[in-house]
Amino acid sequence: MPYAGRIAPTPTGFLHLGHARTFALAHERARAAGGTLIFRIEDIDFLRCKPEYALAAMADLRALGLDWDEGPDLGGPHAPYEQSRRTPIFLECWRRLRDAGAIYPCRRSRKDVAAALGAPHAEEDAEPIFPPEWRPAPGFGSDFPEPGDWNWRLRVPDGETLRFDDALCGAQAFEAGRDFGDFVVWRRDGVPAYELAVVADDLAMGVTEVVRGRDLLKSTARQLLVYRALGAPPPAWAHAPLVCDAQGRRLAKRTAGLALRELLARGVPPADILHAPVESLLPRV
Ligand code: GLU
Repeated sequence: MPYAGRIAPTPTGFLHLGHARTFALAHERARAAGGTLIFRIEDIDFLRCKPEYALAAMADLRALGLDWDEGPDLGGPHAPYEQSRRTPIFLECWRRLRDAGAIYPCRRSRKDVAAALGAPHAEEDAEPIFPPEWRPAPGFGSDFPEPGDWNWRLRVPDGETLRFDDALCGAQAFEAGRDFGDFVVWRRDGVPAYELAVVADDLAMGVTEVVRGRDLLKSTARQLLVYRALGAPPPAWAHAPLVCDAQGRRLAKRTAGLALRELLARGVPPADILHAPVESLLPRV
């Protein structure tokens, strides 16, 4: 199968150095493989996403020398390229998961789950484990014609280790029920959750390799369960190193001085943005 990769920013702010390096890697791998690269805007969370950030992301990455073959600005065979316009594809995915008996409707919120567990989680990406005793009887929800105002969760196979080989991180293993629990695939506010939208789109767009940040390794284990429930083969994975400051803290979207726009405006050469040590790129105060 010919290589198809993607760049999939969430437009909740200006892109920073970390995004630039991950997306440059996605670009490099697609070009090295002689494949296509798709630009997709992950703007399903309409409260947090803004169109101006999507436009800025494309402008900044082009200024850095990246290009792509399909996207909101170019069109292409998988249009539309904004997730906010792809609801029918996500609903179809929801239907298939419902028909497969893989998901169930649930009234419990994240807050309920956190409260049931008591202590807050230390790990940044830790989603508190959904208590298995809160699962409804099998079959509940199978006759729901639409998601309605429910959260829908995927029932994970407790105790099973999900394994995958990552092109950059090597062999990975996460245990369902311990590293993550039943996770939300559809939100009660009518919005598909990331884990559903990203799989539905990567499948619909024929993506063969997912290149993204290492913070999403555990999400990949969850997504493998979505692929399995859909009866679809997963793509290959390449999780890029995260850019950290001298204190070892991850860059957040608003890290002062390291927004791609600011670096470019300061005249930092693209090669330095992509390769120079982070400390050398901080603005002098
Ligand atoms: N939209 C996600 C982000 O901006 C990336 C998700 C993915 O590549 O799967 O962090």
